[in-house]
Amino acid sequence: MTQQDYKGLMVIAEQKDGTIHPVAFELLGKARKLVEKDPQEIMALVLGPESLNTKALIERGADKVFHVAGEIFNHPDELICKENIIPLLREIKPAIVLIGATTFGRSLAPRLAAALDTGLTADCTDLQIDEDGKLVQIRPAFTENILAHIKTKTFPQMATIRYREFSRPDPDPEKKGEIIIREPSVKEQNRVEVLEKIAREEINIAEAEVVVAGGRGVKNAGDFARLKELAQVLGGTIGASRDVVDAGFISKAHQVGYSGHRVKPRLYIACGISGAPQHKAGMKESETIIAINTDPSAPIFSIADIGIVGDWYEVIPRLLEIFKEKTD
Ligand SMILES: Cc1cc2nc3c(=O)[nH]c(=O)nc-3n(C[C@H](O)[C@H](O)[C@H](O)COP(=O)(O)OP(=O)(O)OC[C@H]3O[C@@H](n4cnc5c(N)ncnc54)[C@H](O)[C@@H]3O)c2cc1C
Repeated sequence: MTQQDYKGLMVIAEQKDGTIHPVAFELLGKARKLVEKDPQEIMALVLGPESLNTKALIERGADKVFHVAGEIFNHPDELICKENIIPLLREIKPAIVLIGATTFGRSLAPRLAAALDTGLTADCTDLQIDEDGKLVQIRPAFTENILAHIKTKTFPQMATIRYREFSRPDPDPEKKGEIIIREPSVKEQNRVEVLEKIAREEINIAEAEVVVAGGRGVKNAGDFARLKELAQVLGGTIGASRDVVDAGFISKAHQVGYSGHRVKPRLYIACGISGAPQHKAGMKESETIIAINTDPSAPIFSIADIGIVGDWYEVIPRLLEIFKEKTD
């Protein structure tokens, strides 16, 4: 197979309980920009219930949607999804496959790449097409000190892209496209035996408008309750540095940073967080940053809009009082 045998750009859209993850729309918007100069077909592939609103993918930029329809995908399992996607990718042969770097996407993409014997660049922050029509996959490397430009020799060229990296295009209800419905080729997987199901904490920190985050300045797990109280008053959620996640104070679902979640809230309050580059990588795009730290030379202050030199154990109760007064 040569480069000429592969055509078009495909976004694999994630859905859960019948709702398409917005990263798919961001990727379709980016795909449209990528093919502006050298038009190529933009496709989306989604596995979900029959009732899924696949037209939303057309309205956000797809020319063609492959919908593998079945109730088995109501709550998607990456192993069943993989088994169903592989034959389709072999048949359609897209030149480029883009997947959102969500928890699900990060688990699905390497399985697909391995099965197709192709390369994969994870966690890209930007994409370009070079003069030969090849995908340039851009991602930070060496803890964000350089931006690596990566090209894959094999096809399809596959990349996962972080959520909220690209803007979400407005839907165009007039946009025409084709929706192709397929039967699932594999309906159950029997290679993994489920011994026990443990409920996972469902928080969507990436979408939060307000994040109140704690770092090693928080002395114990119980003290996160104080930050939670403020987050609740502000309608937000709790964030954390990696060190407190590693210490077992709070779950990984709350980790902000290079190896955690990237957030862009309207307000980020960093309490007892020094501002290591790996932490800043996940929150520096926040609209307003308030940093509370006892050390006036803490690097977090270099990106803070408001810096408070002080003990957060004293500052947060005071802020809480003020915010409560305002919301009463
Ligand atoms: C490959 C790699 C990936 C990483 N990924 C991540 C990541 O995703 N996210 C992440 O956060 N880190 C990540 N790290 C770790 C990162 O390098 C730092 O170790 C970590 O961010 C430090 O956490 P911290 O700011 O909570 O702790 P510290 O650096 O120890 O800072 C604690 C701060 O609290 C202040 N303080 C103490 N008591 C108080 C008080 N009562 N009131 C106010 N301030 C107080 C101190 O002055 C200090 O500035 C990664 C590291 C590596 C090598």
